[in-house]
Amino acid sequence: MVSDTPGIHHVTSMVGDAQANLDFHAGVLGLRLVKRTVNHEDVLRYHLYYGNGSGDLGTVYTCFPYPEQPPGRRGVPQWSAVAFAVPPGSLDFWADRLADHSVEAERRERFGDESLLRFEDPDGTRLELVAADSPVEPWREGPVPEAVAIRGIHGVTALPADPFQTASVLETLGLERVGQDGNRVRYRAGGDHGTTLDLLDRGARAAGDDGGTDGNAAAAVSGFGREGPGTIHHVAVRVPDDDLMDWHDLFRERGVQVSRVRDRHYYRSVYVRPGGGVLVELASEKPGFTVDEDVDALGSSLVLPPWAEDDREMIEGQLPSVEVPTADDWR
Ligand code: ZN
Repeated sequence: MVSDTPGIHHVTSMVGDAQANLDFHAGVLGLRLVKRTVNHEDVLRYHLYYGNGSGDLGTVYTCFPYPEQPPGRRGVPQWSAVAFAVPPGSLDFWADRLADHSVEAERRERFGDESLLRFEDPDGTRLELVAADSPVEPWREGPVPEAVAIRGIHGVTALPADPFQTASVLETLGLERVGQDGNRVRYRAGGDHGTTLDLLDRGARAAGDDGGTDGNAAAAVSGFGREGPGTIHHVAVRVPDDDLMDWHDLFRERGVQVSRVRDRHYYRSVYVRPGGGVLVELASEKPGFTVDEDVDALGSSLVLPPWAEDDREMIEGQLPSVEVPTADDWR
């Protein structure tokens, strides 16, 4: 028997320049860089992990910098937005802070009582700040005052190719359909943070009815997305370690495209792609980000998976040098 997922483990995007990405997420947004490592599939590329002070699951947003690749395009089938939770009452602060850094943000409402700011990172990745209570501890030593700092990931939005198959996978994972606002159908996991996964229904999109929730109906209707900087690569949900192989077998039995179990050093994973659409990763809760760095030292140096250590000199020589934004410079 497998247990229901409590919520999101991490979200991963493809981005352009590594330094611009660091400046935006650790500087403007005030997230902690919790891990500076390399892409396991391509060790000459960074893999940057952002999160709260202790890199708790459900706070982690990771980026693969691919500066020389042509920009991606948001569309079907992709995850189209990632939302971070901020304290209720803090959106005015954030609107001012984003404006101070020349980031255009739009205020929106959803489901009657959910307020948010929507904007884009330097590569065009769609991000949101949602005013929502969260039990997550923020990063206290960043440039953003603790009272208004980001409290982990709130949720994600998908533009699935086949909403029914995507919904079926979410339901298999234990998420419940909890509401609909226009073309936005909301699923929620049972944990206490990072629990919201929204699917934008294709029928409503094709009719041009964007439900007042997604705004960019023309872009959505224009069709297919293209992977590249500025697009979200996948969303991972957390599962107990012992369940991973059972999940793999269960999805295979149901005819859902599923990968073998992969060791990602900080977690083990399987990837499923319902109906050839959006990529969903199931990631184990252990061993976590303190397996190779103390909490105090998270993100302070380049860490490599053990099997790449022999090539450290070559890898370090190939990666662009980057500077982690300091709180003082980005207040
Ligand atoms: Zn992942």
